[in-house]
Amino acid sequence: MVASILLILDGFLPLIFFRPCRLDSYSAEVTDCSDAPASSGSVMNGLWNKLQLRHPPLPSSCCLDALSLCTFDQSPIQSDLLFEPIQSPPFVPAAVFTLHTSPRFCVRCRLMRRSSLHGMAILGWVAQTGLRSPGSLCPPKCCDRTRRYRRTAFAPTRFARALQTRVSLSPSREAAVPTDGVATSVAAPKKVCVVWFRRDLRLDDNPALYAAVAEHKYDLVVPLFIVGDDQDELPDVFAATSRSCRDPFAHTAHSVYLQSSLQSFSRRLKELGGAGLHVVQRGDQTVAAVLKAVCDSAKSTAVFFNARYEHGCAQQDERTIAALSRQGIIVHRCMGDLLFDPARIATAQQRQTRRTTHQQDIEESDKNRKFAHWGTLTWFKRLAESSTPSSHHAALVPPIHSFSALEIHTLKEQSERILHTPLRRWGTKVMQYWEPGEQTAQKALREFIDNGGLSAYERSKSRADMTGAVSKLSMRLRCGELSPRTVQNAFEKANVRHRAPILSRRLYWRDLAYFQLALFSDPLEPIRPQYREQTWPGTKEQADAWIRGQTGYPLVDAAMRELWETGWMSQNVRMIAASFLVHILGVHWHVGLRHFHNALVDADVAINTMMWRNAAGVGVDSWNFSLDPVSDSRFVDPTGAYVRRWIPELAHLPNEHLHAPWLASSREGLNYPERIVTDLKSARERMMDFFRQAKIRHHATSSVSCNERGYDLVRVPGTKSETVLFTLPFLRKAVPKAQGMTEATAQSVSSKSRKHGPKKPSKTASSRSSEKRALTRQLRDLS
Ligand SMILES: Cc1cc2nc3c(=O)[nH]c(=O)nc-3n(C[C@H](O)[C@H](O)[C@H](O)COP(=O)(O)OP(=O)(O)OC[C@H]3O[C@@H](n4cnc5c(N)ncnc54)[C@H](O)[C@@H]3O)c2cc1C
Repeated sequence: MVASILLILDGFLPLIFFRPCRLDSYSAEVTDCSDAPASSGSVMNGLWNKLQLRHPPLPSSCCLDALSLCTFDQSPIQSDLLFEPIQSPPFVPAAVFTLHTSPRFCVRCRLMRRSSLHGMAILGWVAQTGLRSPGSLCPPKCCDRTRRYRRTAFAPTRFARALQTRVSLSPSREAAVPTDGVATSVAAPKKVCVVWFRRDLRLDDNPALYAAVAEHKYDLVVPLFIVGDDQDELPDVFAATSRSCRDPFAHTAHSVYLQSSLQSFSRRLKELGGAGLHVVQRGDQTVAAVLKAVCDSAKSTAVFFNARYEHGCAQQDERTIAALSRQGIIVHRCMGDLLFDPARIATAQQRQTRRTTHQQDIEESDKNRKFAHWGTLTWFKRLAESSTPSSHHAALVPPIHSFSALEIHTLKEQSERILHTPLRRWGTKVMQYWEPGEQTAQKALREFIDNGGLSAYERSKSRADMTGAVSKLSMRLRCGELSPRTVQNAFEKANVRHRAPILSRRLYWRDLAYFQLALFSDPLEPIRPQYREQTWPGTKEQADAWIRGQTGYPLVDAAMRELWETGWMSQNVRMIAASFLVHILGVHWHVGLRHFHNALVDADVAINTMMWRNAAGVGVDSWNFSLDPVSDSRFVDPTGAYVRRWIPELAHLPNEHLHAPWLASSREGLNYPERIVTDLKSARERMMDFFRQAKIRHHATSSVSCNERGYDLVRVPGTKSETVLFTLPFLRKAVPKAQGMTEATAQSVSSKSRKHGPKKPSKTASSRSSEKRALTRQLRDLS
């Protein structure tokens, strides 16, 4: 099938007929065509001749279309801003063309996966010069999805906008030879760029570094880290401590870990022969100003970095890119910290919502949605996988021999000072337990897999008294010492889906957290509007006892003491501690969120927020259980080794009393606090009533609250409709069915969202049991 595409580029470029063709016999080739003649018409031919010279067997019929297609394919990384400086108009293609080919190369699939602006610009140039494709090399089998994707990739307005806004940049990508204040470690100085490291402190599978060195052929790299490019701080929580704090790394366990990780990364760069990491304090300047100053010092006109997705980061990045572009700096933003780009997933879910206006789609989507409510893991996994190409999963080999780190003398002193700021006592204590760095992270990953971690995970991931049952990679992922792709690939190579299916989904949870934060960006705000105005009944004294590990419940206390000592806890223990705070003590979830943010070495705004929102029942996927601080303790610590380790004052108790010391016949000599809550059952009922009342109150005042079956409704950012959220059974019953939707509310909720709700009440035995199975699976996944 010959697929042709018509591109009408809004009054900007004429019509082009575009035919894909196939290249399957050429290895990677890079051709710099900056010296090609600039007159229109001959440039492409000049390029073509160059390629012909290098690859005589290149079929002549492959010609210009192949060339323009290849440019689409020139980047194996996801980037919206990956392009070479091509002046506009007229286009002068000072470009690097890379032919990526392999025996299984399919131009169509590749094409639909990549939509780099560089490719668009070249295509635009072809269009403008009026060259036509011979179009004789269509693959014998066309990819089914080609047409759909092509429509997206070549959307005329997007293309025109892209060309107009992005391509009018500096014409020269050759940086001047560095001189002032700059010492190079190579004899022949060449092209210089700045690679801005963020939470990607690694050489391996680092898309920004890879793009700079392997694709754009910069051979001198200024490695830079900006302290204070930090959007991790919750709006009103750490502002006071961190801003008044002179020591940039002293305020949270994560920043203490990060400092060591930076030191290690700097050492690694030096070992490769060159300068270490430049660390600059942002202070009152904008990130763009800092980057510009570093570019000026290095005589560089290009900056590469990986996007961050936390609270406010996307906006900050946009501002930085715009400011640098105005000053003639070429910015390349890549994606390396997640498996899936939240923006793509958001677009896919908007498309999904739009599509469901067709009846057939609604039915189809209802079928798929069975027990996969909006925003839950199953739903997210399906959406993420359908919105991102599988080629995305190939890790990038570190280009360590292709560049040298360039040193800027003027930044040396500042970098050393920041990197070696002495830790405070608490930080020193926490860091006894960790050895940050890319190489130790890789070793930890290998050891976890080689030592049977996968099967241990499936069997015993909830056991707090065992070592090696969980990966302990969270802080590595948080600082980017390992990329999620590297971890996922290593797991998959070890057959994780078969041996540890729960572990195989863990990194999707991570991405889901970022997706949720991208949509509901204020980490302190409940996603369910029903619970916005709650006054929580717990007291400050109770909160303090929880933080200090003095609640009188051994497992909760052991968990909180482990956290304070080491900066880490396993997932089950975190859940028991969190559940105790909100479900038993009735203390506001913000207290837990803040404390974890302060004390965890892996503190991650996205994950921490998602988990605390869920624990408090105000998130997308509220926990379908409340953990018991006694019976669940016995489950996670059956040998008692965990409690004995962290609460030495209970070490002598026999196992039967270890998790409930109040049952011991005598408390004499027991230097351990009394329980702060004695009647767990009524404490739990009080909290259930608290949530029930909040729902009823909100329902009475709000036009859109829940659907006719009591499921909470929430407006999905970026779409025009409400969606149904998974809602705990006791809360579904809080609002009687008949009132679940008054006539007024029934009208205000779109028919679409009602239709998407879960199945009608008349359940068959089989549907009941499959729902139960789904809920059990969800519970198993979390606990
Ligand atoms: C209240 C609460 C707060 C939490 N706060 C954080 C946090 O700030 N930072 C953080 O990294 N994790 C957080 N988690 C999730 C989880 O507890 C940790 O990721 C996990 O315990 C880290 O240990 P591990 O590396 O051995 O994980 P493993 O169980 O071995 O899992 C491997 C990786 O998968 C990811 N992962 C695992 N569980 C989750 C999850 N539920 N959500 C998202 N990603 C997950 C992590 O990156 C983890 O390193 C929190 C959990 C709870 C209950």
